[in-house]
Amino acid sequence: MASHGDGNDTPVYVCTTQKGPRPPVGHLPLSAIPGEPSSTHHGSHRVMVGSQGIIPRWDVRTSRPCTLQYYIQTGTFDNPDNLKLTQDLLVKAAKRWNDVDVGVIFAATTDAAKAHFDVVYIPNPEKPTWIAGTFFPNDVDRFEIYPPSFNDPDIRKQLVNTFTHEFGHILGLRHEFAATKEADPSVQIGVMNPNSIMSYEWKTRSFSQSDQDGLKTFYAMNPGAFVGKIAIQDYKPVFVKRG
Ligand SMILES: [Zn+2]
Repeated sequence: MASHGDGNDTPVYVCTTQKGPRPPVGHLPLSAIPGEPSSTHHGSHRVMVGSQGIIPRWDVRTSRPCTLQYYIQTGTFDNPDNLKLTQDLLVKAAKRWNDVDVGVIFAATTDAAKAHFDVVYIPNPEKPTWIAGTFFPNDVDRFEIYPPSFNDPDIRKQLVNTFTHEFGHILGLRHEFAATKEADPSVQIGVMNPNSIMSYEWKTRSFSQSDQDGLKTFYAMNPGAFVGKIAIQDYKPVFVKRG
Protein backbone atom coordinates (compact mmCIF):
# COMPACT_ATOMS: atom_id res chain seq x y z
CA MET A 1 0.00 0.00 0.00
CA ALA A 2 2.54 2.55 1.01
CA SER A 3 5.50 0.49 -0.01
CA HIS A 4 4.97 0.08 -3.73
CA GLY A 5 4.89 2.49 -6.64
CA ASP A 6 1.69 3.25 -8.46
CA GLY A 7 3.06 3.48 -11.98
CA ASN A 8 3.90 7.15 -12.05
CA ASP A 9 6.19 9.40 -10.08
CA THR A 10 3.67 10.28 -7.43
CA PRO A 11 4.92 8.89 -4.15
CA VAL A 12 2.51 6.53 -2.49
CA TYR A 13 2.88 7.64 1.10
CA VAL A 14 -0.44 9.26 1.87
CA CYS A 15 -0.63 12.13 4.28
CA THR A 16 -3.99 13.87 4.13
CA THR A 17 -2.96 17.25 5.47
CA GLN A 18 -2.97 18.67 1.95
CA LYS A 19 -6.03 16.80 0.77
CA GLY A 20 -7.63 20.01 -0.37
CA PRO A 21 -8.28 23.61 0.58
CA ARG A 22 -10.46 23.79 3.62
CA PRO A 23 -12.05 26.93 4.97
CA PRO A 24 -10.05 28.44 7.81
CA VAL A 25 -11.63 27.67 11.13
CA GLY A 26 -11.09 28.65 14.70
CA HIS A 27 -9.18 31.69 15.70
CA LEU A 28 -8.70 34.99 13.95
CA PRO A 29 -5.30 35.81 12.55
CA LEU A 30 -3.09 38.39 14.13
CA SER A 31 -3.03 41.39 11.89
CA ALA A 32 -0.01 41.22 9.69
CA ILE A 33 2.43 44.06 9.61
CA PRO A 34 1.93 45.32 6.08
CA GLY A 35 4.26 45.03 3.24
CA GLU A 36 7.80 44.47 4.35
CA PRO A 37 9.59 42.58 1.60
CA SER A 38 11.75 39.83 2.95
CA SER A 39 15.34 39.27 2.06
CA THR A 40 15.76 37.17 -1.04
CA HIS A 41 18.53 35.19 0.61
CA HIS A 42 17.58 32.66 3.19
CA GLY A 43 20.66 30.49 3.30
CA SER A 44 21.14 27.08 1.82
CA HIS A 45 18.27 25.30 3.47
CA ARG A 46 14.79 25.05 2.22
CA VAL A 47 11.31 24.56 3.47
CA MET A 48 8.05 24.95 1.61
CA VAL A 49 5.52 27.29 3.19
CA GLY A 50 2.24 29.02 2.38
CA SER A 51 -1.37 27.94 2.12
CA GLN A 52 -4.56 29.49 0.81
CA GLY A 53 -2.87 32.73 -0.24
CA ILE A 54 -0.99 33.40 2.96
CA ILE A 55 1.96 31.91 4.80
CA PRO A 56 0.51 30.85 8.14
CA ARG A 57 2.81 30.57 11.11
CA TRP A 58 2.56 30.60 14.90
CA ASP A 59 3.08 33.84 16.77
CA VAL A 60 6.31 33.48 18.76
CA ARG A 61 6.75 37.21 19.25
CA THR A 62 3.99 38.34 21.58
CA SER A 63 4.44 35.29 23.76
CA ARG A 64 7.41 32.97 23.66
CA PRO A 65 7.36 30.09 23.77
CA CYS A 66 4.12 29.61 21.92
CA THR A 67 3.00 26.30 23.43
CA LEU A 68 0.73 23.97 21.50
CA GLN A 69 -0.79 21.37 23.78
CA TYR A 70 -2.19 18.19 22.33
CA TYR A 71 -4.74 15.96 23.95
CA ILE A 72 -4.86 12.32 22.92
CA GLN A 73 -8.44 11.05 22.75
CA THR A 74 -7.46 7.69 24.21
CA GLY A 75 -10.97 6.30 23.74
CA THR A 76 -10.60 6.44 19.95
CA PHE A 77 -7.77 3.87 20.05
CA ASP A 78 -8.90 0.27 19.79
CA ASN A 79 -5.59 -1.23 20.89
CA PRO A 80 -3.64 -0.32 24.05
CA ASP A 81 -0.27 -1.11 22.43
CA ASN A 82 -1.01 1.28 19.59
CA LEU A 83 -2.06 3.95 22.06
CA LYS A 84 1.16 3.53 24.05
CA LEU A 85 3.21 3.61 20.86
CA THR A 86 1.44 6.80 19.81
CA GLN A 87 2.01 8.44 23.19
CA ASP A 88 5.72 7.58 23.14
CA LEU A 89 6.40 8.49 19.53
CA LEU A 90 4.51 11.78 19.70
CA VAL A 91 6.80 12.78 22.56
CA LYS A 92 9.86 11.85 20.49
CA ALA A 93 8.61 13.61 17.38
CA ALA A 94 7.65 16.70 19.38
CA LYS A 95 11.08 16.83 21.00
CA ARG A 96 12.76 16.90 17.60
CA TRP A 97 10.98 20.11 16.65
CA ASN A 98 11.01 21.55 20.18
CA ASP A 99 14.81 21.23 20.21
CA VAL A 100 15.08 23.39 17.08
CA ASP A 101 14.00 26.15 19.44
CA VAL A 102 12.12 28.49 17.14
CA GLY A 103 9.73 29.41 19.95
CA VAL A 104 7.01 26.83 19.32
CA ILE A 105 6.73 23.97 21.80
CA PHE A 106 4.56 20.88 21.45
CA ALA A 107 3.46 19.40 24.76
CA ALA A 108 1.09 16.63 25.75
CA THR A 109 -1.75 17.39 28.11
CA THR A 110 -4.26 15.11 29.78
CA ASP A 111 -6.57 18.07 30.40
CA ALA A 112 -8.92 18.31 27.43
CA ALA A 113 -9.87 21.84 28.43
CA LYS A 114 -6.25 22.98 27.92
CA ALA A 115 -5.74 21.39 24.51
CA HIS A 116 -5.02 23.32 21.32
CA PHE A 117 -5.62 20.24 19.22
CA ASP A 118 -6.66 16.64 19.69
CA VAL A 119 -4.96 13.47 18.52
CA VAL A 120 -7.47 10.89 17.34
CA TYR A 121 -7.40 7.44 15.82
CA ILE A 122 -9.78 7.04 12.89
CA PRO A 123 -10.45 3.32 12.29
CA ASN A 124 -12.52 3.86 9.14
CA PRO A 125 -11.09 6.70 7.07
CA GLU A 126 -12.53 7.77 3.77
CA LYS A 127 -9.63 6.03 2.00
CA PRO A 128 -7.86 2.91 3.29
CA THR A 129 -4.47 4.23 2.10
CA TRP A 130 -4.51 7.28 4.34
CA ILE A 131 -1.81 7.16 7.01
CA ALA A 132 -2.08 10.39 8.97
CA GLY A 133 -3.14 13.99 8.58
CA THR A 134 -2.96 17.28 10.42
CA PHE A 135 -3.45 20.98 9.68
CA PHE A 136 -1.71 24.29 9.18
CA PRO A 137 -1.66 27.14 11.71
CA ASN A 138 -4.55 28.94 9.97
CA ASP A 139 -6.68 25.84 9.75
CA VAL A 140 -6.62 24.21 13.16
CA ASP A 141 -8.20 20.82 13.15
CA ARG A 142 -7.19 17.44 14.50
CA PHE A 143 -4.11 15.25 14.33
CA GLU A 144 -5.60 12.14 12.76
CA ILE A 145 -3.99 8.70 12.64
CA TYR A 146 -5.32 6.02 10.29
CA PRO A 147 -5.02 2.20 10.36
CA PRO A 148 -1.95 1.73 8.08
CA SER A 149 0.15 3.59 10.67
CA PHE A 150 -0.24 0.58 12.93
CA ASN A 151 -1.17 -2.28 10.63
CA ASP A 152 1.40 -1.96 7.86
CA PRO A 153 4.69 -3.20 9.36
CA ASP A 154 6.86 -0.96 7.16
CA ILE A 155 4.85 2.14 7.97
CA ARG A 156 4.73 1.25 11.65
CA LYS A 157 8.55 1.19 11.70
CA GLN A 158 8.58 4.73 10.31
CA LEU A 159 5.94 6.10 12.64
CA VAL A 160 8.18 8.55 14.46
CA ASN A 161 9.00 10.08 11.08
CA THR A 162 5.32 10.17 10.14
CA PHE A 163 4.55 12.03 13.35
CA THR A 164 7.51 14.37 12.81
CA HIS A 165 6.19 15.09 9.30
CA GLU A 166 2.74 15.85 10.68
CA PHE A 167 4.10 18.17 13.37
CA GLY A 168 6.00 19.88 10.55
CA HIS A 169 2.66 20.71 8.90
CA ILE A 170 1.34 22.10 12.17
CA LEU A 171 4.36 24.41 12.24
CA GLY A 172 3.40 25.65 8.79
CA LEU A 173 5.54 23.48 6.53
CA ARG A 174 4.16 22.18 3.25
CA HIS A 175 5.15 19.05 1.41
CA GLU A 176 8.57 19.23 -0.19
CA PHE A 177 6.95 18.69 -3.60
CA ALA A 178 4.11 21.17 -3.02
CA ALA A 179 5.21 23.61 -5.69
CA THR A 180 4.97 21.09 -8.51
CA LYS A 181 2.25 18.70 -7.42
CA GLU A 182 -0.23 20.58 -5.27
CA ALA A 183 -2.68 23.21 -6.42
CA ASP A 184 -2.64 25.33 -3.28
CA PRO A 185 0.14 27.90 -3.91
CA SER A 186 3.33 27.55 -1.92
CA VAL A 187 6.70 29.24 -1.87
CA GLN A 188 10.11 28.00 -0.92
CA ILE A 189 12.72 29.21 1.51
CA GLY A 190 16.19 27.93 0.64
CA VAL A 191 17.19 25.02 -1.57
CA MET A 192 15.68 21.65 -2.43
CA ASN A 193 16.18 18.60 -0.24
CA PRO A 194 14.43 15.48 -1.52
CA ASN A 195 15.14 13.71 1.76
CA SER A 196 13.40 16.36 3.83
CA ILE A 197 11.11 14.99 6.52
CA MET A 198 8.40 16.85 4.58
CA SER A 199 8.94 14.73 1.47
CA TYR A 200 6.95 11.66 0.54
CA GLU A 201 10.12 9.59 0.10
CA TRP A 202 9.18 7.89 3.27
CA LYS A 203 11.92 5.25 3.19
CA THR A 204 14.78 7.71 2.77
CA ARG A 205 13.46 10.85 4.35
CA SER A 206 14.78 11.93 7.68
CA PHE A 207 14.56 14.80 10.09
CA SER A 208 17.24 16.75 8.25
CA GLN A 209 19.46 19.66 9.09
CA SER A 210 17.76 21.46 6.19
CA ASP A 211 14.37 21.01 7.90
CA GLN A 212 15.72 22.48 11.11
CA ASP A 213 17.62 25.34 9.50
CA GLY A 214 14.72 26.08 7.16
CA LEU A 215 12.31 26.29 10.08
CA LYS A 216 14.67 28.63 11.94
CA THR A 217 14.93 30.90 8.92
CA PHE A 218 11.16 30.84 8.48
CA TYR A 219 10.40 31.75 12.08
CA ALA A 220 13.09 34.45 12.15
CA MET A 221 11.33 36.36 9.37
CA ASN A 222 9.16 39.33 10.26
CA PRO A 223 5.39 38.99 10.48
CA GLY A 224 3.95 40.41 7.28
CA ALA A 225 7.14 39.74 5.34
CA PHE A 226 6.61 38.53 1.80
CA VAL A 227 8.11 35.39 0.40
CA GLY A 228 7.48 35.61 -3.30
CA LYS A 229 4.05 37.17 -3.55
CA ILE A 230 2.50 35.95 -0.32
CA ALA A 231 2.89 37.28 3.19
CA ILE A 232 3.58 35.63 6.51
CA GLN A 233 0.65 35.80 8.86
CA ASP A 234 1.01 34.85 12.53
CA TYR A 235 -1.61 33.01 14.53
CA LYS A 236 -2.15 32.53 18.25
CA PRO A 237 -3.20 29.13 19.53
CA VAL A 238 -6.63 28.81 21.10
CA PHE A 239 -8.12 25.96 23.07
CA VAL A 240 -10.29 23.41 21.33
CA LYS A 241 -13.94 24.28 21.76
CA ARG A 242 -15.89 21.37 23.20
CA GLY A 243 -19.52 20.52 23.16
ZN1 LIG B 1 2.05 15.62 4.73
